[in-house]
Amino acid sequence: MSSRLPVDVPNSRGTLPNGHARLPDWLRVNLPSGGAQAAFNGTLNVIQGNVLHTVCEEARCPNVHDCWARGTATFMIAGKECTRGCRFCSVETLKQPDPLDADEPERLADAAERMSLAHIVITVVNRDDLPDGGADHYKRCVAAVHRRLPETTIELLSSDLDGNWQALEHLLEEIPLRVFAHNVECVPRLDLLVRDPRASFAQSLEVLRRAKELRDDLWTKSSLMVGVGETDREVTDALQQLRDVGVELVTLGQYLAPDRATAKFLPVDRFVTPEQFLFWAEEARAMGFRSVASGPLVRSSYRAGLVLEEAETGRRLVQLPSAEH
Ligand code: SF4
Repeated sequence: MSSRLPVDVPNSRGTLPNGHARLPDWLRVNLPSGGAQAAFNGTLNVIQGNVLHTVCEEARCPNVHDCWARGTATFMIAGKECTRGCRFCSVETLKQPDPLDADEPERLADAAERMSLAHIVITVVNRDDLPDGGADHYKRCVAAVHRRLPETTIELLSSDLDGNWQALEHLLEEIPLRVFAHNVECVPRLDLLVRDPRASFAQSLEVLRRAKELRDDLWTKSSLMVGVGETDREVTDALQQLRDVGVELVTLGQYLAPDRATAKFLPVDRFVTPEQFLFWAEEARAMGFRSVASGPLVRSSYRAGLVLEEAETGRRLVQLPSAEH
């Protein structure tokens, strides 16, 4: 069974980009059935049972059926609301979210154990309301998972901590991570259109540069969305800038507006073809990225365990969904 995503988003001219009357076929997703549905339900039960949030749900990720049926999910810690209001993201914005939940690290570790995760991706909401941007809480969550599952590789998809370099140092000091990820999200020219004014490509690049400087033993990873108004050339330039600060793992995916009825969300500017994503993948590898996932439905945590394994083994492992052929 397959379905179209609920994101037929007209652009500013009131039409779908590139003259599409509907979304292109390569954005078709498969719904789980049989054993896959049971596995999906198992993932859901653990998440709900442990009172955790996931970016899969909060960001309305198109891969949720695929990933959860594989028994993976990306946990979102430090609350369900973010202090920033980026125009691509459906996570709710609040100036003053609830206080941090001191039990969250243990509940997270318990969920990871129940799901027998070999690799876990933990992402965060921005907590500009906290003096350390939430860094200490992020660190506690990672430590709790590591205590419970010392063999599990951990990937933290971090905020920019509002450029608080002391907080970044604290976060990274002896943290048992394998991957430190932080997303630049879009090409630099579009920062003000796409991201909250407190975020920028330059600041994100600096987070990644410093992370590598502080912890050369960790892989650094970033992600770019396309379809928000960039040119192909700007994507190539952005990839090169990421390589120049030592980023080794990269993902590229198509932006899909979370809700066409809400003016907060940017309209889709264009649907990039699977062939163009493949072109960037080859280009990124030629630049020296150790692992690349590039395709219409790719998200920063998409098949994250395989992306890491590809980097560590040098073997190409990341297969894109069949709809993208
Ligand atoms: S790609 Fe990431 S955010 Fe999307 S469903 Fe999979 S794990 Fe969740």
